[in-house]
Amino acid sequence: MKKLHIKTYGCQMNVFDSNRMEDLMVAIGYETTPTAEDADMVIINTCHIREKASEKLFSDLGRLRPFKDKKKEQGSEMIVAVAGCVAQAEGEEIFRRSQVVDIIVGPESYQTLPDLVGKVIRDKKRQINLEFTPNDKFDLLPQSKAGTGASAFVTVQEGCDKFCTFCVVPYTRGTEYSREVSKIYDDALKLAQKGVKEIYLLGQNVNAYHGLNDKKEASSLAKLIEKIAEIPQIERIRYTTSHPRDMADDLIAAHRDIPKLMPFLHLPIQSGANNVLKGMNRKHTRQDYFKIIERIREARPDIGLSSDFIVGFPGETDQDFEDTMDLVRQIGFTQCYSFKYSPRPGTPAAEAKIQVEEDVKTDRLARLQKLLGEQQTEFNKKFKNEIMPVLFEKEAPKKSARQHDSGKMQLWGKSPWLQSVIVDVDSEKDLAKYLGQIAQVKILQARPSSLVGEMIVN
Ligand code: SAM
Ligand code: SF4
Repeated sequence: MKKLHIKTYGCQMNVFDSNRMEDLMVAIGYETTPTAEDADMVIINTCHIREKASEKLFSDLGRLRPFKDKKKEQGSEMIVAVAGCVAQAEGEEIFRRSQVVDIIVGPESYQTLPDLVGKVIRDKKRQINLEFTPNDKFDLLPQSKAGTGASAFVTVQEGCDKFCTFCVVPYTRGTEYSREVSKIYDDALKLAQKGVKEIYLLGQNVNAYHGLNDKKEASSLAKLIEKIAEIPQIERIRYTTSHPRDMADDLIAAHRDIPKLMPFLHLPIQSGANNVLKGMNRKHTRQDYFKIIERIREARPDIGLSSDFIVGFPGETDQDFEDTMDLVRQIGFTQCYSFKYSPRPGTPAAEAKIQVEEDVKTDRLARLQKLLGEQQTEFNKKFKNEIMPVLFEKEAPKKSARQHDSGKMQLWGKSPWLQSVIVDVDSEKDLAKYLGQIAQVKILQARPSSLVGEMIVN
C-alpha cells in the first residue's frame, strides 16, 4: 500500500475536506501515515483566512524537499498536492515559487484528486484544477471510511454571498450552494449505521441553508435538523457557522422543540460597535444581535453562546473596542474565538486607509481574550458537582495539557455545551465499553477550558 500524509490547516470544513480527500485516496490504494517523511503522497490542505497562510505553506513545502529528493534517490516518488483556500487564491503562483509541488487543487474541485494523481504519474506533468463544481463534488465523493468515530461532520452548505469586507471566503469558496436534503439525510443515515451518534452540520453560512427537499421546495436549516433528528441512532445534532442575519424564527424554535439539537450556538458578531459592523458589511447591528440572543435564551434558557471577534478592524476606535467589551459583558459567552484583523489581499477592508497599529491590536486582543477566558471559566465552574451526559469520542491523548495526572487511562468527551470532559477509566475493558457512547458523568473539577469528571456507574 502507498502511504498518504495529510496536513490540515483551518476550520472544520477543511477537516471535513481532508477526511474526504483521505477517502478518495484510500479508495485507490493509499493508507495514511502520521509523518511526511516516508509518504508517497503529501497533501497540504491550506487556510487563507488570516495572515501568514502562504508563508506557512512555503515553509512546509521547503521541509518536504529533502524527503522528496530522498524518495527519488531510492527510485520512487513523493507526490505533493496543495489543496484548500491558499491553492484557490494563489493558483499557478504556487508552482512558480515551489518546485516541490505536483498538484494544485481547489476546495471545490478536490473530487478530481485521484485523476490528477494518475496524470502526474502517467504524464510526468504538474496538474492544476481550481474549478467551482460543488454539486459534482458531493456526487463524486466516496462513502466515508469505516471507523468514523462517535461524532462526524456533514457539509450541508458551502460558499458565501455576503461579502464581509474583511473575508476571503466568497472568493475562495465561491457563491452559496446548498446540498439536497435527501443526500444529507443519506449521509447521516450511513454514518449512524457506522456508529456515529453526533452529526455536526457544516457550512460557511450554515443557517442560510436552503437545499431542496423531496417536493423540490427549499428547506430551511431547522427543517433539515428535524429530518436528521428522525434517525434513531443520532442522539446529538450541532451546526456551525451561523450568521446573525440568517437566524430564522424556525431555527430559534428548533432549539426549544428538538431535544437532540444541542444547547449551544456559535453566532459570530465580530464587533460590538455599529460603525465597525457597517464597515464590515455585516448588515446587522449590535441591537439586532441582542434581540436574537434574547429570543434564543427564551427558547432554550440553558444555551451556551459562542462568537467570533475581530479586533483592530480598520478605523476601530478605543470607544468601538469598548463597545465590544461591553457587549461581551452583557451577553456572557461560554467559549469564543477572537483574532486580530488581518488584511487579506483582494478584500475591500485591506485597502482602507486607516489601519489600526499592530500594538493596539495586540493590546485589545489581550484584554478581550482575558474577559472571554474569565467568562468561560465562570461558565465551567457552574457545572462542579453536576451530573451531565458526555459523548466519549476518543482516548485522551497522553501527556496532553488536557490530561490530569492520575496516571490512569483517560477518555475524552464532549458535554452538551461543547465543553471538553476528561474521565479516568480503570481498564482497557472500560475504555472499550464507553468509547463512542454517551454516559452520565459527575463533574469533579472545572478548569478554564475543560472539565474533569467521574463515570456514574449504575
Ligand atoms: N461565516 C462565518 C461568519 O459569518 O461569521 C465565519 C467564517 S470565517 C471562516 C471564521 C472567522 O474568521 C470569522 O468569523 C472571523 O472572525 C475570522 N476572520 C475572517 N477573516 C478575517 C480577517 N481578515 N482577519 C481576522 N479574522 C478574520
Ligand atoms: Fe466570510 Fe462569514 Fe462574512 Fe461570508 S458571512 S464573508 S464567510 S465572515
